[in-house]
Amino acid sequence: MNNSLLYRPELAGQLVSRKGNQLLRLIRAAQPITRTEIAERLSIDKSTVTENVKPLISRGLLRQDIIDGKERRRRVLSFTPENGYFIGVNLGVRRSQVGVTTLGSEISDESDFETPSKPETALRLARKRIDEIIHSRSGRLPTLIGVSVPGMVDAERQKLIFAPHLNWRDIEIAEILRPDRNVAVAVENDSTAAAMYEARLKIRDSDDGLMTNFILVRSGTGIGVGLVIGSQVYRGSGSIRGIAGEFGHMTIVAGGKHCVCGNRGCWEQYASAASAASLYLGDRPPARGESKPRFVEIVSKAKVGDVRSRRTLEKIGDYLGIGIANVIMGIGISRVIISGRLVYGWEFIEEPLNAAIERSIIGKIDGWSVEAGEPVGSAIGGALEVAVEEYLSTL
Ligand SMILES: [Zn+2]
Repeated sequence: MNNSLLYRPELAGQLVSRKGNQLLRLIRAAQPITRTEIAERLSIDKSTVTENVKPLISRGLLRQDIIDGKERRRRVLSFTPENGYFIGVNLGVRRSQVGVTTLGSEISDESDFETPSKPETALRLARKRIDEIIHSRSGRLPTLIGVSVPGMVDAERQKLIFAPHLNWRDIEIAEILRPDRNVAVAVENDSTAAAMYEARLKIRDSDDGLMTNFILVRSGTGIGVGLVIGSQVYRGSGSIRGIAGEFGHMTIVAGGKHCVCGNRGCWEQYASAASAASLYLGDRPPARGESKPRFVEIVSKAKVGDVRSRRTLEKIGDYLGIGIANVIMGIGISRVIISGRLVYGWEFIEEPLNAAIERSIIGKIDGWSVEAGEPVGSAIGGALEVAVEEYLSTL
């Protein structure tokens, strides 16, 4: 095994330098990339870039290629494809995925299964898939395994504390999934993982911005919020580290609808993609012979002009905007990205959402923005990003 790829858990999260970490993150997202472009985007000298990448090139982690550009030949940097690989496991409320990535590529070997209600069964399925992936690589172990879960994780990111929609509590995820004691496993909240994934896509697709500060709102079965502050994901501190971002369970309607968490009037009961079904039915149980509409069905109907479906999505947009204004006010970060199933209905949601923010105190200031991200992909993409980010932070 290549020594440079040995994971050093004692260094996890302890960044050598913030710029250094941003540099690696930028190369990974925007590869192949020139030193000039890196220097411009990070506002550092080209010589600093050279100084930083030199040891990584000699360790075989980065490679340099000459490509023919429009006017002249350019020397570009990228991660070497032959380095180690990473496994991602996304444990979703309805479905789960396992996939593979490397520092130089996108997702491969993806498999998908319905999430069993019992955690032991679900984790056994995921573990079986991990073993198959390792077996298909002649026993070569992954550099790191990233896991995303729909709930709160412990400070060490090893254990799931509580996943309200699955009703799973205190599950030793890392211990159960670890195929070998030398393989590190990092368990992360799914919205935080999705934030890492969206950050990479935005860095890749735009030539400005490093996604230094933003709020990710993931709306699907529930609502979760991922926070990126100063280029780092924020998880909270002290004994409740790992809990930050549970805004889906902030109360927005006193004495409102019952929530899976045990409280009433939680935001996700009014603004998640899953909440659309009951809003559509007028908050009554489905009549005999009537089935609960799926979110995508409501969106399809809205697209052909069905008024009830449009009203439903507008209402969701309104509630989503109310909550987002609260989050922006509380955190003081003005850029918001929406991901998850809800994005499918974005054309009907965007306007009432913006109107709700306009009505709040945030509407009195300039510079806030809410944009749509990925409807799917952030699930397994997020889990893999957890593994890669964890590794990059130790380099
Ligand atoms: Zn709740």
